[in-house]
Amino acid sequence: MISVRDGQNHILAQVEGPVPPELIVITEALGRVLVEDVRAPIDVPPSDNSAVDGYAFASSDVDTERARALRVVADLPAGSVFEGALGPGQAVRIMTGAPMPAGADTVCPQETAVRSGDDVRIDADLTKGTNVRMRGEDVRAGSVVVGEGSVLRPQEIGVLASLGRRQVLVSQRPRVALLSTGDEVAEPGWPRTAGQIYDSNRFTLRGLIAQCGAEPIDLGIVPDVRDVLRGRLLEAAGLADVVITSGGVSVGVYDLVKDVLGEIGGIDFWQVAMQPGRPLAVGRIGRAHFFGLPGNPVASMLTFMLFVRPVLHKLAGRRRIFPETWQARAAEPMRKKQGRREFKRGILEFAGGAWAVRTTGPQGSGILSSMVTGNCLIVLEEERGDVAEGEPVLVEPF
Ligand code: AMP
Ligand code: MG
Repeated sequence: MISVRDGQNHILAQVEGPVPPELIVITEALGRVLVEDVRAPIDVPPSDNSAVDGYAFASSDVDTERARALRVVADLPAGSVFEGALGPGQAVRIMTGAPMPAGADTVCPQETAVRSGDDVRIDADLTKGTNVRMRGEDVRAGSVVVGEGSVLRPQEIGVLASLGRRQVLVSQRPRVALLSTGDEVAEPGWPRTAGQIYDSNRFTLRGLIAQCGAEPIDLGIVPDVRDVLRGRLLEAAGLADVVITSGGVSVGVYDLVKDVLGEIGGIDFWQVAMQPGRPLAVGRIGRAHFFGLPGNPVASMLTFMLFVRPVLHKLAGRRRIFPETWQARAAEPMRKKQGRREFKRGILEFAGGAWAVRTTGPQGSGILSSMVTGNCLIVLEEERGDVAEGEPVLVEPF
């Protein structure tokens, strides 16, 4: 038996640096991992500008006791610049986003200014700097705005655009070849013979791979035939950075993944001290990393999340490779066997002023619908025994 943590460390130690980088346009960059520190070449905003539609003036020009009339000398739409400087007793009509005229430091909103002819009366209570957005208040020139290893979300892409960037250097998508094994596994959309079940693992795993920002290469279903399996695994290893199979790693007579891999590559077979998902094959076929995940649908998802996802994140150069965990109160008692890490599917809810979690019901490793009903994993550590109602537990939202 190997612990989850030791297994993860062992696997990650085998993974070399990230896959090579590529330059892409920012419109294609959602979910990709940055491999450069992006520094701001300019201040954002590039100049002091008005936060409202109104009148720009010098605060020193307005008597603090009462409003004062100023002469409006120009109209300044967004995008245009006031040439010259404001003289004493002068104001400029200004639109949101327009650069502040030299000599002005405050803007009176249109709604509170009283305009008559070429004059405007300004509310004298506005303190200096009100309604002005300062140059560089968002981003300072020279600062690192988005760091190496960041995943590009809409907001990172927006910030890059605000700096004038059109292209970014990201890591290539790791390629992940995927196979289901088993004579009993049938392709969805095709007739199923008695005794067959439809393949679900390849579809959950494809989605998980894509969610990691990696590129799934779907190689279909392989029957439990030794030579066919060997051929397909070798083919897969030639196509991808990572090869994943599901099924065939336990001790059944037809569990051939184990046998075949013993012949082709350097593979370890682990019994991981976890529930669900004990058997796991880990190693290499040629230059590809190999993971033989268990066949049971929840176990294959879970072992992917625990052992494959961190590898894909590391290959992609992500700074953060493990998900965040939270704490919640157990809303019900939970059975837990000491000495192994258990992952229950949970329903996390905010109730009565606190986060509480209960299980989705039956927790068999074939009950894939528990991943649909649930919204988190409840992570019960090795040393822990049964959980009483009200005890704190770790949860990992998904
Ligand atoms: P195995 O490890 O091959 O003995 O598979 C364990 C269990 O998982 C068996 O009940 C299999 O039928 C089931 N299983 C294996 N592969 C898949 C798959 N691709 N989709 C759904 N269930 C599967
Ligand atoms: Mg099988």
